[in-house]
Amino acid sequence: MEGPLHSLDQWDDDVKSRYSPEKSESEFRNYGDTVPPVVREFYRQNHIYQTREFVLAQKDKWLKKDRVRMSIMEAMHQLNQLVDDSDPDTDLSQIEHNLQTAEAIRRDGYPRWMILTGFIHDLGKILWYWGEPQWSVVGDTFPVGCAYSDKIVFHQFFQDNPDSKTPEYQTELGVYSRHCGLDQVDMSWGHDEYLYHVVKDYLPPEALYMIRYHSCYPIHREGAYAHLLNAKDREMFEWVKKFNPYDLYSKGHAKPDAEKLWPFYEDLVDEFFPKQLAW
Ligand code: FE
Ligand code: FE
Repeated sequence: MEGPLHSLDQWDDDVKSRYSPEKSESEFRNYGDTVPPVVREFYRQNHIYQTREFVLAQKDKWLKKDRVRMSIMEAMHQLNQLVDDSDPDTDLSQIEHNLQTAEAIRRDGYPRWMILTGFIHDLGKILWYWGEPQWSVVGDTFPVGCAYSDKIVFHQFFQDNPDSKTPEYQTELGVYSRHCGLDQVDMSWGHDEYLYHVVKDYLPPEALYMIRYHSCYPIHREGAYAHLLNAKDREMFEWVKKFNPYDLYSKGHAKPDAEKLWPFYEDLVDEFFPKQLAW
């Protein structure tokens, strides 16, 4: 499993530290200087290799969903195995991050579909298990085919992305039309978009937005790309924003008792999903 990061979680942890509520204004501004070299290198690769052409090729490759049929729980176990094997230092497994996110949502009294969304939201990271490089699995996502926002973390690395030399892609709207809606927009490829396509027939639209755009920090945290959003996106992004703190800040609390919680989550998965899904 190639990649500069020690584990996929290192990206998640970096986002958490970037948006840490305890951070002072100047720490926030100097964020770029304090990032570990491997994380910086990860963003460099992500920003130069995520071209529009690459994204379209990944959609072609993965969205046929002809690779395997398996249940949500099988996918969860597969993903967990990988991370445990490759990163003995990680104190929290993928299952634990998923459970912590879900349990925090549950404690706050949200509906069952949202608890389920917390439980499955990172399952798309299974792409890494299947050999995709880190820069095409995690990372803050952003639209491709139009000008890069300077609100994207390490946006200076885009100067080495071939798309930055394609004038058609460097106008504000690029290949899109004003307020066309994000469904029409190709985002950089990663675990969000992939899982969205696996589960899109089974969950309410709010849940699907949370899954599809939870890594899109330029939009949900920074307010960039407002000119591409339509009314439905604006309404649904309120849910993406509600979801984000559970993803970022539920980490590090007490380890969840997976064995005890499992029956609840098995029932919850059965309530919404068929026995097997196409991946
Ligand atoms: Fe994620
Ligand atoms: Fe997550």
